[in-house]
Amino acid sequence: MTGLAVAPRPAGVSTPRLTVDLGAVAHNTRTLADRAGGELMAVVKADGFGHGAADVARTALAHGATRLGVTSLAEAFALRDAGLVVPVLSWLNPVDADFPAAAARDVDVAVPSLAHLAAVAAAPGRQRVHLHVDAGMARDGAEPGDWAALCRAARRAEQRGEVEVVGVMGHLGCADDPGDACNARGRTRFAWAVEVARAAGLRPRDRHLAATAATLTDPRTHHTMSRVGAGLVGIDPSRSTALAPALTLTAPLVQVRRVRAGTAVGYGHDHRTADATHLGLLPLGYADGLPRVASGRAEVLVRGVRRPAVGRISMDQVVVDLGRAGAEAGETVTVLGPGRDGEPTVAEWAGWADTIEHEIVTGIGARVPRVVRPAAYLRRLG
Ligand SMILES: *Cc1c(COP(=O)(O)O)cnc(C)c1O
Repeated sequence: MTGLAVAPRPAGVSTPRLTVDLGAVAHNTRTLADRAGGELMAVVKADGFGHGAADVARTALAHGATRLGVTSLAEAFALRDAGLVVPVLSWLNPVDADFPAAAARDVDVAVPSLAHLAAVAAAPGRQRVHLHVDAGMARDGAEPGDWAALCRAARRAEQRGEVEVVGVMGHLGCADDPGDACNARGRTRFAWAVEVARAAGLRPRDRHLAATAATLTDPRTHHTMSRVGAGLVGIDPSRSTALAPALTLTAPLVQVRRVRAGTAVGYGHDHRTADATHLGLLPLGYADGLPRVASGRAEVLVRGVRRPAVGRISMDQVVVDLGRAGAEAGETVTVLGPGRDGEPTVAEWAGWADTIEHEIVTGIGARVPRVVRPAAYLRRLG
C-alpha cells in the first residue's frame, strides 16, 4: 500500500472510506479452523484479498491459523518486514526469483518443475520446499508426466543437503461445485502424487490440497493442512457456509442537483432521467474498484433506501438518482457492506459486474482511505 492511501485525513473532512472489520476475519478464521481437519494456512496474497495482508495475517494467526501463504516472494518478504515470524509459503515464482533471499528470510517455496528445483537447490542454505503437483487444472504445478522425475530429483537434492522437502501441495479446479467429478479426479491425483513422493524416498509432512471451498465441503481433501484465503474475508465460493463480510465502502455526496425529466447523465448519455429528480455525485469510480460494467445495474444505500447508480461509471465518479426527496451534499452513502442495513453486498456488486466476489474485494483502489477496526473492538462490543 502506498503512503498516500493511509495518510491521515484532517478530522471532519469527509472522504470515501473503506472500513475493514477484522472482527469478521477473526470469526471466519475460527469457523474455518473448526472445519479444517489439520492446520490452517491463512492465504494473504493480493494484500490479503484487498483487506490488508499484515492485518488479516495477524488476525487469522490469533484465531486459529498457524501459517501464512502467498503467491510471490515479494509478498512473503513484506510479511517478514511487518514482523511476522510464523512459517510462510510462497508458491508462484519465476525460475529466476530471488531464492537465496527466500532461504535467508526463512520463506518456504513451492517447486513446480525441475528448473525451479535446480534454481532453489543452487541457492545457499537448505531451502524448505513444497513440491507442487497440478491436480487437474493445467495451471500451476507439475504435470503428472513430470511428477516422478521431479520427486526423484528432489530426493537427490535433499540427500545432497540442498533442500528439505517438507510438503506436497495441489489445488482443485472445481471445488466451488462439490458435486463436480473434477473433484474426485483431483483428490485421486493428489493421493497418487503423495504416494509417488513417498516411493521416491521423500517424507513430506505437510500435505495440502484444500482451499476455502473444499475445506468447508469435503473432509476427504483436508490431509494435514488447508490453505484458505477467500473464506477469511467472508467469501465462500461453495455457498455452503455463512461467513462474515469484512468490508464497508462509503463515500460522501459531493454535489446534489435537481434535474428535469429527460436529463441525460454521464458519458455517452447512456441514461436519461424518466422524471424530475435529484442527482447525487459520488467521488468513486472504476479506478476505485467500482466495475464499469456495473453501469446501469448498480445500487447504493442513501438514507436507508436503495438508489440506482445512473449513467456510466467514470474513472473517478458516479452519479446516483436520489429521487424526488433528494439528499444533501456531504451526506454519507454506503456503496457496499455486509448488508445488515440494506446496503449492497460484495456479492451483489459481483453479480452486477458479471464476476466473483474475489474480483470486487481485490479491486478496491489504493487511493480509497482505509480504516481498520481491530478484532478486539468488536469482541468487546459483544
Ligand atoms: C488463492 C489460493 C488459495 C486460497 O484459495 P481460496 O479459495 O481463496 O481459499 C489456495 N491455494 C492456492 C494455490 C491459491 O492460489
